[in-house]
Amino acid sequence: MIIEDLNLTVISTDSALDITYPVMEHFHTLQGEGAHTGRASYFIRLAGCDVGCSWCDVKDSWDAEKHPRITVGDLVEAAVASKAPFVVVTGGEPLIHDLTALTTALHDAGLKIHIETSGSSPMSGSFDWVTLSPKRFKAPVDAVYPHVNELKVVVVNKKDFDWAEIHAERCPDGTMLLLQPEWDSPKTIPWITEYVKQHPQWGVSLQTHKFLGIR
Ligand code: SF4
Repeated sequence: MIIEDLNLTVISTDSALDITYPVMEHFHTLQGEGAHTGRASYFIRLAGCDVGCSWCDVKDSWDAEKHPRITVGDLVEAAVASKAPFVVVTGGEPLIHDLTALTTALHDAGLKIHIETSGSSPMSGSFDWVTLSPKRFKAPVDAVYPHVNELKVVVVNKKDFDWAEIHAERCPDGTMLLLQPEWDSPKTIPWITEYVKQHPQWGVSLQTHKFLGIR
């Protein structure tokens, strides 16, 4: 049931549980990247992406039609059973979906919710931690920036440092600023190291799950 009153739309938890999303995979793991690296978490990788990064390492996620739809109820049940303290909603590009139902139900179940997004679609749902990873292939929409807790820029070439600063200026004060080497571009590691030494407001994020050999 959707309750509409005074221009507010509220999805009751019961009805939210029946809503489905295309899901590539969902699993209990460790967060591999960013500020929460190494923490136990439950990943929900939604299918569908319209950004098209050439170096994307989850291209199988792009076509939502290729993946099963799973109910919010089943996703919440799995996340709660994992006993992970927070859920990471990722993709694909998760914000191509209206995330209101999913985040309402996860919060009602007592879980914290993080999102990893390119910011290329408007925000929906509510989150406890927002990681913006902007992509040149489809820029973030303006309305995303005020929600950002962590800016994580993947570095592929030297132009990405200037580009990272452009996005940092648009994020709220106190946003954690991270530069991450693209996995198949190890040449960027010394560039990033030197840049962070000269610009200490930035830090480094690594894809530690790949070093650990986990998803
Ligand atoms: Fe891949 Fe993410 Fe880029 Fe989409 S936004 S193409 S999922 S890296």
